[in-house]
Amino acid sequence: MATRDVPYQGQGVSRVQLAANREAGLKRCFVCGSTKPFTDFSADRSRSDGRQPRCKACYAAYSAARSGPKRPRLTDEQKAENRRKLARRYRERNKENLRVTSRAWYDANKEGFAEYQKKWRSENIERHRAVQLEWRKANADRIAVRNKEYASANRAKYLAHTRSRQARKMQATPVWADLKKIEAIYAEAARLTAETGVPHHVDHIYPLRGKTMCGLHVENNLQILTAVENLSKGNRVDDPG
Ligand SMILES: [Zn+2]
Repeated sequence: MATRDVPYQGQGVSRVQLAANREAGLKRCFVCGSTKPFTDFSADRSRSDGRQPRCKACYAAYSAARSGPKRPRLTDEQKAENRRKLARRYRERNKENLRVTSRAWYDANKEGFAEYQKKWRSENIERHRAVQLEWRKANADRIAVRNKEYASANRAKYLAHTRSRQARKMQATPVWADLKKIEAIYAEAARLTAETGVPHHVDHIYPLRGKTMCGLHVENNLQILTAVENLSKGNRVDDPG
């Protein structure tokens, strides 16, 4: 039903009056009851006179009442937020499907994806750092397990290295080596370390595994160096005197 914003004034337009109105290019609005020019009524081809029964002003009020209060226009930021919200909800509801499809996609596009990731990271350094930090916070337990595994794997690596060094030492020790003297040199290094607080190492003057020659594990090939001297020497023989 049409809402009337003025009291009903009746249809009381006589045939004579109606004909006179048409002649003058006028029409009476059945809502507000005022007689207005035809141009104040919108076209309506379903009507016998080709015009709507409501004047334009009454039609605006009528259609506003039908469509309810106008919703305020959203800003671009609000629209973007709504899209994000919808996307988030979609991801939540389709978690499992998305996991399967994205896994399949990843398997099929591994190389291209690695390339893309690298590019994205270099272009979004700050964002990448933030994402990483967030991930680390959320996966602290996983990281602890991974670190433990890594440490034990590298402990094995370290031990393997030490063992192979010991084995080389054994192979490089000829029968005529004076084990007592060798032992004394190691003891002296330990004493110097304890006394000075500066770590001292026993060094092979000719490395047991040199590039051009291999030294022997014998007393004459041993010297005591501070750890710093020893580590900076590497496997080079600068002054084998
Ligand atoms: Zn009207």
